[in-house]
Amino acid sequence: MSKNIKSLASVHKSPPVHWVGDGLPVSTALSHHQFGEAVSPFLLLDYAEPYLVEPSLTPRGVDEHPHRGFETVTVVYQGELEHRASGGNHGRIGSGEVQWMTAGSGVVHEEKYSEAFTQKGGWLEMVQLWVNLPAKDKMSSPGYQTLTKSQIPEISLDDGAGLVRVIAGQFEQTQGPAKTFTPVNLWDLRLNAGGSTTLRVPAGSMMALFVLKGEAWVNETAHVLTKDLALFESEGEEVSLSAVKESVVLVLSGQPIQEPVTAYGPFVMNTQQEIVQALSDYRSGKMGHI
Ligand code: MN
Repeated sequence: MSKNIKSLASVHKSPPVHWVGDGLPVSTALSHHQFGEAVSPFLLLDYAEPYLVEPSLTPRGVDEHPHRGFETVTVVYQGELEHRASGGNHGRIGSGEVQWMTAGSGVVHEEKYSEAFTQKGGWLEMVQLWVNLPAKDKMSSPGYQTLTKSQIPEISLDDGAGLVRVIAGQFEQTQGPAKTFTPVNLWDLRLNAGGSTTLRVPAGSMMALFVLKGEAWVNETAHVLTKDLALFESEGEEVSLSAVKESVVLVLSGQPIQEPVTAYGPFVMNTQQEIVQALSDYRSGKMGHI
């Protein structure tokens, strides 16, 4: 093995599913609450595994709620979501698309099935990540990046091993479209059965793999299955992955934000006082309404 190897720290099974609103059955595979600084700059990874939505007249999802102090990143694998926010932002994201929302100083939004998806029904599958912001950017203006399929570069891996879609950061020589405040890599990796690849990140990076589907060997020694989260040590730069079955893996990595985290529901700040301020600003309508 290369001396640059990034050692596996731990593998975790996803906890049972809970409902977010009335439309999103999710399993929280990664959270700051559980793992603390080891997963910085990430705060949360919620996975909504494939769920068959019956046709209906009323869109389901999550009603109006606020966020402050971080970014929410929604990766849609199947189905279609529609988003409405304070400040007038309104958009849809479908299969293969990503919404990278900077809540910053405060957003009030709703996340629902789109009208067309509600009427037609079908499979829904998505990931929502929460990415922390450094203290200096927590109160920046809200922003929305809708990353369409054609904006996300797709790279074929050597030897027909599969492909990588670079959502954020850099994979080998290819840059992803998402603008991030701190260095963050987000790669949608698809490996064919028997396909192998080596993932390289800068030394000192936090790194995690979440297996949406499949079965693979990590660093030739550890076996991961569907809904497993693998966390790596910060030392080293290379992780090898060999798929036993066709696999879909979300690869997260980034530079840790070495600052205190105080989280309260949809607000993630540095101090308790800032949380109290966030609650007060939300209640007095300073984060706006849809
Ligand atoms: Mn939200």
